[in-house]
Amino acid sequence: MSVVNEFLFLDNDFKNSGVAQADWSTKKMVWIPSEREGFQSASIKEETGNEVVVELDNGKKVTVSKDEIQKMNPPKYNKVEDMAALTCLNEASVLHNIRERYFSGLIYTYSGLFCVVVNPYKLLPIYSEKITEMYKGKKRHEVPPHIYAVTDNAYRNMLQEREDQSILCTGESGAGKTENTKKVIQYLAVVASSHKGKRHHYSLTGELEKQLLQANPILEAFGNAKTIKNDNSSRFGKFIQINFDNTGYIVGANIETYLLETSWCIRQAKIERSFHIFYYMVTGAKDKMRDELLLEDFSNYRFLVAGHVQVQNQQDDEMFEETLEAMEVLGFNEEERIGMLKVCSTVLQLGNIEFKAEKNQEQASMPDNTAAQKVCHLQGINVTDFTKAILTPRFKVGGELVQKAQTKEQADFAIEALAKAMYDRLFRWILACVNKALDKTKRQGASFLGILDIAGFEIFEDNSFEQLCINYTNEKLQQLFNHTMFILEQEEYKKEGIEWNFIDFGLDLQPCIELIERPNNPPGILALLDEECWFPKATDVSFVEKLTNTHSSHCKFSKPKNLKEKAFFTVQHYAGKVDYNATSWLTKNMDPLNDNVTALLSNSSSAFVQDIWKDVDRVVGLETMAKMAKSDSAAPTASKSKKGMFRTVGQLYKESLGKLMTTLHNTQPNFVRCIIPNHEKRAGKIDAHLVLEQLRCNGVLEGIRICRQGFPNRIVFHEFRQRYEILAARAIPKGFMDGKQASTLMIKHLDSDPNLYRIGLSKIFFRTGVLAQLEEERDLKL
Ligand code: ADP
Ligand code: MG
Repeated sequence: MSVVNEFLFLDNDFKNSGVAQADWSTKKMVWIPSEREGFQSASIKEETGNEVVVELDNGKKVTVSKDEIQKMNPPKYNKVEDMAALTCLNEASVLHNIRERYFSGLIYTYSGLFCVVVNPYKLLPIYSEKITEMYKGKKRHEVPPHIYAVTDNAYRNMLQEREDQSILCTGESGAGKTENTKKVIQYLAVVASSHKGKRHHYSLTGELEKQLLQANPILEAFGNAKTIKNDNSSRFGKFIQINFDNTGYIVGANIETYLLETSWCIRQAKIERSFHIFYYMVTGAKDKMRDELLLEDFSNYRFLVAGHVQVQNQQDDEMFEETLEAMEVLGFNEEERIGMLKVCSTVLQLGNIEFKAEKNQEQASMPDNTAAQKVCHLQGINVTDFTKAILTPRFKVGGELVQKAQTKEQADFAIEALAKAMYDRLFRWILACVNKALDKTKRQGASFLGILDIAGFEIFEDNSFEQLCINYTNEKLQQLFNHTMFILEQEEYKKEGIEWNFIDFGLDLQPCIELIERPNNPPGILALLDEECWFPKATDVSFVEKLTNTHSSHCKFSKPKNLKEKAFFTVQHYAGKVDYNATSWLTKNMDPLNDNVTALLSNSSSAFVQDIWKDVDRVVGLETMAKMAKSDSAAPTASKSKKGMFRTVGQLYKESLGKLMTTLHNTQPNFVRCIIPNHEKRAGKIDAHLVLEQLRCNGVLEGIRICRQGFPNRIVFHEFRQRYEILAARAIPKGFMDGKQASTLMIKHLDSDPNLYRIGLSKIFFRTGVLAQLEEERDLKL
């Protein structure tokens, strides 16, 4: 075990390698800001008014202002497993602790309710069978921090308290959300099947677990792409709910996904790739299958912008085999597998359709229809009808159908919209099938454990509608965290009989959430966007104008000062200010597909294609909507959802997020924060500022700020007495004395400000920093 230990357990030599105890107290060590390291250690030499002279490690002396200094924790706190135990709770100490642990190969660290994990960018021997065994049934504090510990605790809580659980993984792209999500599922698949219970379930659970594990490669093949940040970047969010019976067996599962970024189908940057499946298929499909799918070389596909971009250490043809095998495990039959691949081939082929702008005419033509023929062959539709639907679609105006010639731009746009919609439909269809397979037992689960794998706050140079949705989600998730923390702290204080009004910091996030989701009085961003979509003359700029008029005095809303473009607005998110660029939002909020094409596809000669285009919450077409606003006539094929309402992308997203939040609110949440250490995918390197920024955005520092308002450090009486009796020996009479009584006498003797501590029923509570002071005094006595 010794090799393994090193990556989980703290070696004592390591522990003491930091600043030695003696140095810390005599040299008055502190943290000061550093350009390169985030913070560096220094020793205080002189204090005058607001300024302090400190000496750096290299002997250089510098003067800094007092507010720039952060206190350093006593060395006994080096590389602590739970940072909530730190007595000096500040950014510098948190960064230092995470960094020191990371350099020792310890990637998991707790921070109160959070489990923080830094992507190691190398395989660590910490996920083996042996390790799995080690975590089984252990309490959180009995084993080193690990995603297995989080999972095991959630699992045991679920069984013991009959409370549904959730594990929420967030972080920026490449931070390790998906890897950790997989570890959760792998762990559960092992632990929940070896769980002692009724025998006859063995084979059934075995198969279900296999399917659960194999669902992931399928979703990844169709939903992941290689990006600059991550070779296997998920372009959608997901919530995997695993249902258990009351003996702890897995009885079924369900996967919900959020916002697949279909734009990857049509455009990628140079070294990036579209969804994996395209590369798997074009490389891996051979002979008969290749002919049937009408596949061509990479260089022939305009939608695969950079041709065959390879992923390091990955063979696309092998991956193709694996994907097909996974499909088989999930019960997709031959016809369905081919149908899925035909859709992929069609999406690629759509990119090869070219239009020409006719001279002096506002009209596009298609000089060569080879690509269109292939598209229609693959999808089982008539090529003349298809060409008409794209070039001269018919719309209902008043009561009559009118044909309208399209410009080249409009035709190009229609093709791209079709490619994206087709892929989106395919993805949803696959998901529905996967869910059907995972729900095979149809047995009612007693409780469930849900795992959320969704992008954290995104603050890019250019922030669009997708960023608004993801940031809106993160506001809600952060609110859930703050609220959970509030409830738990409140409980702990009450249990210990301590007077303290803890504030619900979840409320802090409410104004921003309302700015986005409020339906009316006044309508928020999403509602206003919907409204604008109904106006025939509306543009992205008129949307932003309306937004500005409505919310000019909202505390979380502003117009960016230095941006001249009119379609910009700014939201003050809790993670920072974000300038949103509203260009194309009206189109993004609606399904810009023209109904003529969808009508063709839903009447395809292929049953598979028909099935894909069967209506699921279809979003109304842009032109249809505009027409409908003018006249009352119902559009030709735009169908209505059950409630008879047309729904926009924003509405659907808000709804599915609302559902997710209701689910999560009814669970006991477990928060996992994934951190990317650098943007070079390099092992063993920490970019301090990058990590600090993430700690700020992902709520770890916020959690610490909240902690600081209360009494974050807690010590049970006998421990307090044992460690600090030396400071107040005279206060306690010889012989037996009750722990509480002794601690009370000690603290009185120490003459602490009563506001700095509280005495509970079993523990004594301290404000941040108090223990550091006691440590210092203790040092001087020793
Ligand atoms: P995210 O889902 O947050 O975008 P991923 O989970 O896909 O990020 O991780 C990106 C890459 O980082 C993975 O493909 C893998 O190479 C590496 N990685 C992440 N977590 C780990 C881990 N715990 N151990 C080893 N490698 C990891
Ligand atoms: Mg991912």
